[in-house]
Amino acid sequence: MAKKQFKTESKKLLDMMINSIYTHREIFLRELISNASDACDKLHYHSLTDSSLTVSREDLSIRLAPDKEARTLTISDNGCGMTKDELESNLGTIAKSGSLAFKENEGKDEDAQKNGVDIIGQFGVGFYSAFMVAERVVVESRAWNADEAWRWESTGTDGYTVEPTEKETRGTTITLYLKPDTDEDKYSEYLETYELTELVKKYSDYIRYPIKMEVTEEKLKEGSTDEYETVTSDRTLNSMTPIWKRAQSEVKDEEYAAFYQEKFYDYDSPAKVIRQKSEGGATYEALLFIPKHAPYDYYSRDYEKGLELYSSGVMIMEKCKDLLPDYFGFVKGLVDSADLSLNISRETLQHDRQLRAIARGIERKITTELKKMLEGERDAYEEFFRTFGLQLKYGVYEEYGAHKDTLQDLLLFISTKEKKYVTLKEYVDRMAEGQDKIYFASGETVDKICLLPQVEAAVAHGYEVLCLTDDVDEFALQMLREYSGKAFANVCTDTDGLTTEEEKAALKDENEKNAEILKFVKDSIGDAVHEVRFTAGLGSHPVCLSTEGNLSLGMEKVLSKMPGGDGSVKAQTVLEINRDHSIAAKIKALYVTNQTKLAEVAKILWAQACLISGLTIDNPSEVADLVCNLLAE
Ligand code: ADP
Repeated sequence: MAKKQFKTESKKLLDMMINSIYTHREIFLRELISNASDACDKLHYHSLTDSSLTVSREDLSIRLAPDKEARTLTISDNGCGMTKDELESNLGTIAKSGSLAFKENEGKDEDAQKNGVDIIGQFGVGFYSAFMVAERVVVESRAWNADEAWRWESTGTDGYTVEPTEKETRGTTITLYLKPDTDEDKYSEYLETYELTELVKKYSDYIRYPIKMEVTEEKLKEGSTDEYETVTSDRTLNSMTPIWKRAQSEVKDEEYAAFYQEKFYDYDSPAKVIRQKSEGGATYEALLFIPKHAPYDYYSRDYEKGLELYSSGVMIMEKCKDLLPDYFGFVKGLVDSADLSLNISRETLQHDRQLRAIARGIERKITTELKKMLEGERDAYEEFFRTFGLQLKYGVYEEYGAHKDTLQDLLLFISTKEKKYVTLKEYVDRMAEGQDKIYFASGETVDKICLLPQVEAAVAHGYEVLCLTDDVDEFALQMLREYSGKAFANVCTDTDGLTTEEEKAALKDENEKNAEILKFVKDSIGDAVHEVRFTAGLGSHPVCLSTEGNLSLGMEKVLSKMPGGDGSVKAQTVLEINRDHSIAAKIKALYVTNQTKLAEVAKILWAQACLISGLTIDNPSEVADLVCNLLAE
């Protein structure tokens, strides 16, 4: 019989499975059992809509049958089965999610083995994992609504055959012809009762259909103390109790991790497992996970938040988004409540009081757990914040700050002090004497921010400055307005705290005295600048930019980048010239001796100040010419 070929992608993946260096080969069993369980689910689902089909959940089961002599392991189910077409299309092509990941990883051949591991981990390659342990795989299947059965067979990449076969009952039987043992790999362990029992416990315990196996044991004969007999009995290997219904003390970390990884397609274990059992107003159990890393589409529109919703152990919705606020959208998990009716529709659910109460409870629980993590496991929390902190900051800003009280103590910012994360509370607790504001500055990177003249000045003053590098940061702080009675202040806008009253008065005096010169400088620059003034406290720096009013330069940048931003929103920029720098004296002198030159110097100073603040300049070639002329003098 002519062999059919696998689709190219599947072929490559299969190749990796066959030559896999993946150490967790044992997951093949979990994958095949999970497929069998899905097949049972599907059959049950068909029975709800097709009156010719009567199945009760109790009749559905999965069976493992090892055969040491033949070196085969058989996994069978009496679920929906597959037609000939389904066998070809389902087993001839890798699942959609898998193929996507595979494409992304293609082309990095030197990493092929590692990629293989990643793909297995990330998406679960399902059925093909059988080839990690078997050299030949035979699938016999009879679809629930068909009279004939089909046999699919493959030894791997050289293709597969499909031919008719005999099968008495509905469902699928998969026979794995295990690879020969080597010094390192003992595939024959997958024929041992003990090993199979352990694997089912570890990975598939909560599967809701019984996973049965015939077990042969030596037992004491009844009534005898020394005579043994061989007894064969059918044993159900899984407890069928969902993991979230088991006592918290009984579930091991690795069981949670296995459950999470399989259910939410993560290659990594979760950063945190949260369990909640609530018996007050709303009765429910929640099992939540905080992932270690953001899903690849997390910050895109494609990402859908939500928790699985169960009513007494039966899933009623795969992604119930109303259970999670956006700012906790990264949380994965499920909620099981006996209060919700099985037949509740999505529309009613949205307005359901119970559901809203559950959502509130869950939000509170996540907040408390994150706070605990922040207090007790700082490193882990910082890692978490690096991954999902942006979401929390958006949360502060969204809905006009409605959630700021919930979120403000979960925020971290890098500060000028050792360039490390600090909470707002820690900042306030260690504020310098006489400091009454929380200072921040924004820019592209922490290093660039630290080099801003105003930041240097504040630090020299003994103040710590929060370095804001995310677009949303300044907007979030503006929404918070203050923390613990201390207002937030941009060091580039609000320098009140950095100068004494006398200095302020002296500066005011000086600016008034030189009003004419400053106006000349301003007019030479043009409309871009709102004001020009002399300043103190800039150290060795000649100039800097600051702003007046509510809009900072950082915010201006963000707003003009937004869709529809036409650049019309402008911050009121002020060019500050260091009174103590020799350039100040030069300006005053030029005003008297050479105003044409002063106009040129003004433009150069303006361009410099813009560059220091990370802005682009509108007339780079003009500025370059001016600087060159100056150099050539
Ligand atoms: P996934 O389960 O992620 O879709 P798999 O490669 O594991 O990917 O399986 C591919 C498809 O083959 C499944 O989606 C299902 O339609 C079908 N399939 C696999 N095993 C069985 C089974 N035991 N009974 C019925 N259909 C199955």
